[in-house]
Amino acid sequence: MTLKDLPIGSTAVITKVGGEGALRQHFLDMGMIPGTEVTVVKYAPMGDPIELMLRGYELTLRLEDAGRIGIEEGPAADNPQPLLQHPLQTEHPGLGQGGKYHPKGSGDPLPDGTELTFALVGNQNSGKTTLFNQLTGSNQHVGNFPGVTVGRKDGPIRGRSNTKVTDLPGIYSMSPYSSEEVVSRNFVLNDRPRAIINIVDATNIQRNLYLTIQLLEMGVPMVVALNMMDEVAANGGSVDINRMESMLGVPVVPISAVKNAGVEELVEHAIHVAHYQEKPLRQDFCDETDHSGAVHRCLHGIIHLIADHAERAGLPVRFAAGKVIEGDSLILKQLDLDQNEEEMLEHIILQMETERGLDRSAAMADMRFSFIQRVCDQTVKRPAESRERIRSERIDRFLTGKYTAIPAFICIMALVFFLTFNVIGAWLQGLMELGIDSLAGFVDSALQAAGVNTVIHDLIIDGIFAGVGSVLSFLPIIVTLFFFLSLLEDSGYIARVAFFMDKLLRKIGLSGRSIVPLLIGFGCTVPAVMATRTLPSERDRRMTILLTPFMSCTAKLPIYGFFVSAFFPKRGGLIMVGLYLLGIIMGILAALLYRGSLFRGEAAPFVMELPNYRMPGLKNVVQLLWEKAKDFLQRAFSIILIATIVVWFLQSFDLHLNMVESSQDSILAMIAGLLAPVLRPLGLGDWRIATSLISGFLAKESVVSTLEILFGGSVSTALSHLAAASLLVFSLLYTPCVAAIASVRRELGRKYAVGMVIWQCAVAWVAALAVRLIGLALGGI
Ligand code: GDP
Ligand code: MG
Repeated sequence: MTLKDLPIGSTAVITKVGGEGALRQHFLDMGMIPGTEVTVVKYAPMGDPIELMLRGYELTLRLEDAGRIGIEEGPAADNPQPLLQHPLQTEHPGLGQGGKYHPKGSGDPLPDGTELTFALVGNQNSGKTTLFNQLTGSNQHVGNFPGVTVGRKDGPIRGRSNTKVTDLPGIYSMSPYSSEEVVSRNFVLNDRPRAIINIVDATNIQRNLYLTIQLLEMGVPMVVALNMMDEVAANGGSVDINRMESMLGVPVVPISAVKNAGVEELVEHAIHVAHYQEKPLRQDFCDETDHSGAVHRCLHGIIHLIADHAERAGLPVRFAAGKVIEGDSLILKQLDLDQNEEEMLEHIILQMETERGLDRSAAMADMRFSFIQRVCDQTVKRPAESRERIRSERIDRFLTGKYTAIPAFICIMALVFFLTFNVIGAWLQGLMELGIDSLAGFVDSALQAAGVNTVIHDLIIDGIFAGVGSVLSFLPIIVTLFFFLSLLEDSGYIARVAFFMDKLLRKIGLSGRSIVPLLIGFGCTVPAVMATRTLPSERDRRMTILLTPFMSCTAKLPIYGFFVSAFFPKRGGLIMVGLYLLGIIMGILAALLYRGSLFRGEAAPFVMELPNYRMPGLKNVVQLLWEKAKDFLQRAFSIILIATIVVWFLQSFDLHLNMVESSQDSILAMIAGLLAPVLRPLGLGDWRIATSLISGFLAKESVVSTLEILFGGSVSTALSHLAAASLLVFSLLYTPCVAAIASVRRELGRKYAVGMVIWQCAVAWVAALAVRLIGLALGGI
């Protein structure tokens, strides 16, 4: 029997974990080990994936993958783990409970003035972003890890000079399952932070400690930040901190990142262990009595055998030995063992598998989880069922319910877009435009009063203010959209959306998680492309990026708005919705095409945690908005500013650098004239349209402003309705703006970026031609 056959609400015990390679390792790391109890919670509204409860948390799994997990019905046999004897002789390190220093006998501190670098490591949804924001305030540096597309943030700890915290991506283990895990592991191994701050979600302590154990194996000075203690306490749970510290051998500090409680103490501890370079006192989690110590003997044997290789490779030997047993090819390569040694290790591991009755990876995961079980048995008093869990279940009954999930999703997204485009965003936008207009008016009269040269005057008023101003007035919409999206993300809803959309997205060859970047694509392609970084599979990531241009970004909205009000005022809503839908349909067609050509094969496995719903922290949201706004402003004042000046220059001067009377004689008209024949079949042969489309490549918003400038406000009489329709379709689909292309290039390389420009233009051309032909056939003009 497999997990797939288990009815809703029933409980069973895992007997066998199938699958292979990284996927199987991921199953194990998430706690699905032979002997573990699982309960089926529900099926997604479309019947796939399935939601499970194990080790006190919720996990989603595709039916297909669930079919690989063998089970036996009924609850797990009660198999009490022997208590750990008071484990470590030494006093726990660092600062003790209550904030008192323990006397340091043989302290060997780093010299004063050494920069103390910290890595912030934790599971997803453990409160990492919240803690990072508390630690650093707004003093953050956003960037990339070298060579990969995993986001990186650093910043100094507030009020502590010579410190630097680096926020590593949220991960579940140190296995190379996703590029995030590899990045985090390499950061700890190669960048050698002075200490690790490991954030642990205390409401989900078993699963979170799994990563902790792996970090301890690396032997780097560390503190554990036990987060969400406010929730644990409010539900009547508690943790014996002193005892947990002495069992783990590192300082454990209870905190609540949202309430900023305990963070100061955490910083004290972190600085202390980093300054004194206090290594974790325990790196050994195997049990000599478990199955006659099969894993224990194997592990320690291997530790001795590879000690010299590990030292040469600069790897912590305990960690390397564990990875050798798991068969981690990256580590094996670094160790550079010769064939005889490899064979010897293989024999030892085979022997262990026979004695333990589990395969190598499962045996390692089981060893770690049994240790965690013992720690939790002795230190954690779990509340029966937390209020948050009950609340989440209640909310989920509606938001992921069989008949309500999709309608609710549509309503929520409609509400978000309504509030963004019609209410809040629009209001802010009006305000912004008012500000820009009055500033432009003021500057205009000041320039005139000062008798400034007309060229400069034109440049400032018609070039810069008209161009950048029209782009800037867009900022409020983007910020508002991100505000809602980050609320949805932080509350835990987006994970649910991925859960119930998975089946649908799989039809076009993607996984449910791709829905998030695609949705963000309706806001702006740049962050959408960046949001694909959270996707665990490279194939899904590439394919998702290639689909984002089909989602109408907000910058195209002024184009739609302008043409709709000029040409189709009565059917505005219909045409807007139609354009969005057309984009989606073209996206689906493109996805089917990509699936059959560029990206053969299956979408990535979908093993994902569903966190409890939580109130998003205001600070996180504000921080994110600030980042987005800053990013947008930087673009507005760099690329877009240059673009507007260039376009203004090209259209104001001729080849002899004389200012032209009519823009028809300008350089731009010449360039556009070359392009115009290509657009003629679409009914868009006017050079001014080609010009505005060129400026649209720099920033979509400026299609409209350029048209306005060039036509001198007479666009609505210069174009036929049919031409307007094909221009709309062309603008919907043609190349994304330069900033978006730049981010595609950063993510996928030059080839993809150039390819995307050409491909999107071709698609747009064909679609616009189709519109024209259909229109002509229907007797349009
Ligand atoms: P990340 O995925 O690890 O970056 O987690 P976030 O920082 O985004 O936090 C996930 C959610 O947990 C957010 O809604 C936070 O507001 C919430 N959260 C974070 N820390 C705490 C805490 O200490 N207590 C409670 N109750 N909620 C928290
Ligand atoms: Mg986060």
